[in-house]
Amino acid sequence: MIGLLGGMSWESSALYYRLLNEGVREHLGPTASARCLLWSFDFSEIEALQHRGDWKTLTVRLIEAALHLQNAGAGFLLICTNTMHRMAPEIQAALVIPLLHIADPTAEAIGRAGFRKIGLLGTAFTMEQDFYKGRLEDRHGLQVMVPDAADRAEIHRVIYEELVAGRIRPESREIYRRVMAKLIEAGAEAIILGCTEITLLVSAEDSAVPLFDTTSLHARAAVERSLARR
Ligand code: GLU
Repeated sequence: MIGLLGGMSWESSALYYRLLNEGVREHLGPTASARCLLWSFDFSEIEALQHRGDWKTLTVRLIEAALHLQNAGAGFLLICTNTMHRMAPEIQAALVIPLLHIADPTAEAIGRAGFRKIGLLGTAFTMEQDFYKGRLEDRHGLQVMVPDAADRAEIHRVIYEELVAGRIRPESREIYRRVMAKLIEAGAEAIILGCTEITLLVSAEDSAVPLFDTTSLHARAAVERSLARR
């Protein structure tokens, strides 16, 4: 049973739900579907706490929800957002069941493809704080590059003002294309879509190097793990 901490935002949780079900169907046949439990937050509360910097309250809220999923029978847990992996260690420490960290299947796929110098796009929290980059570098030996301050602000703005609200604008796709081109120019061999909504906006044809989409890599790893236990 896959436990999902979602609603951050529901736009990407809907993608997770589809990907998990499609993955199980692919392996087990046309009527098979994913056994899962979704805890879906009201994202307006979450993003207000994030932008206030109240990570303490967010940690309490996520642990509470994770425990509900564990008690309801989840065999392992996914946090369906890169940003909220900031409190992954605290959540894991509160649980008996394992947390499948979104950076791990992503870094493993990058390693298998033979890339080392990687561009990272995500929220400002993900691009600027150490919880995510640090894991990619220390645990997986990747060299992580992020956009400059002005570009990070734009990438972040588009996520919170548009993508989580279901707004997909060609002008914003252009911004992302331009920022990715700059990372490639600076030496990025591949780019991580390190926010679970970015895949709604850009796809392979928007980049001259391969894109590693955390949403689909995370969902695929969850399907494999859940099928291994069936
Ligand atoms: N889903 C996004 C992420 O993967 C951003 C929303 C959030 O801050 O949780 O980081």
